[in-house]
Amino acid sequence: MAEALRERRLETTLLYRSKVPYSGLEPEVGGLIVRELEDHGVRYIGEIQPNAFEVSNGRALEIITDQGAFPADLFFIGAGVAPNSEIAREAGIVIGRTGGIQVDAFMATNDPLIFSAGDCCEKYHRVIDQPVLAPLGDIANKEGRVAGENALGGNAQFHGIVGAACVKVFDLEIGLAGVTEAQAGGLGYKVISQLVEASSRVGIYPGSRETLLKIVADQDSGRLLGGNWIGRDGEARKINVLATALYNRMTLEEISRLDLAYAPPFSPVWDPLLIAANLLKRKVVRPSPKG
Ligand SMILES: Cc1cc2nc3c(=O)[nH]c(=O)nc-3n(C[C@H](O)[C@H](O)[C@H](O)COP(=O)(O)OP(=O)(O)OC[C@H]3O[C@@H](n4cnc5c(N)ncnc54)[C@H](O)[C@@H]3O)c2cc1C
Repeated sequence: MAEALRERRLETTLLYRSKVPYSGLEPEVGGLIVRELEDHGVRYIGEIQPNAFEVSNGRALEIITDQGAFPADLFFIGAGVAPNSEIAREAGIVIGRTGGIQVDAFMATNDPLIFSAGDCCEKYHRVIDQPVLAPLGDIANKEGRVAGENALGGNAQFHGIVGAACVKVFDLEIGLAGVTEAQAGGLGYKVISQLVEASSRVGIYPGSRETLLKIVADQDSGRLLGGNWIGRDGEARKINVLATALYNRMTLEEISRLDLAYAPPFSPVWDPLLIAANLLKRKVVRPSPKG
């Protein structure tokens, strides 16, 4: 929305509750997004608590926050997404801890005649082995297909998600998958992480831009837990290699051996993901040999 408003040359301020936009991002990546917003004329204010609107004659004049009042002609509210599972709850369908409808791999609820798919229901997160909410269109589509097939007597399964997503902020592309360092730490993993700043193509090749990748892994098992990739040269799509590795619960050692395509217009000789995995695998605790 901020991008669209700036496109029309409107003065734009973005107020956000956390320090950086989108709490599912690593702080290093969030910081670059804030800079991109500011470089394009968006005034960004993080860690702010909106409390009320000052309204006169049915018209909002300013928003009152813990950091003062901000007047504007137009306000957009991004309030997040929560599953509206009340109808299901009233019908006796089990609602999970997340607030979403609980389903099994067949997208069946506790009532064998009722299936659920999409934003309303929980998804199994393959990386952290827990039910989560993930209101995304590609997931809703896959789940809908499974639920539909099974409602007609089929036997299809949905095998879960890894939290892959991508977004564009002005000229920046951001891809993310799995969990962040902070999220993994909060879940009790012994987290190790690696930040790699590289060029998106062979350095001298026209169009080469800076690219930044951060990956997170479990120190005990060496298993990849997540990553954020940000830049201006196809990073949103590059995250899919990482998402595939997460889906298959690959370790840093396994990722470091991947045969990834290379040619100067597309990547450096050492793909940043391989660089990151090679560096981070050194920090993995190896079980000491028996005896
Ligand atoms: C602005 C925006 C941008 C997005 N961009 C992306 C993106 O880039 N990538 C991505 O993966 N996802 C994106 N999403 C999320 C994606 O759109 C949703 O995850 C997806 O549409 C969820 O599908 P759903 O079928 O669960 O719900 P919905 O698509 O919301 O469908 C639910 C339907 O149920 C109907 N309904 C509700 N209550 C009742 C009732 N009581 N009786 C009958 N009908 C009812 C509604 O009218 C609606 O048609 C975006 C969402 C928004 C809002």
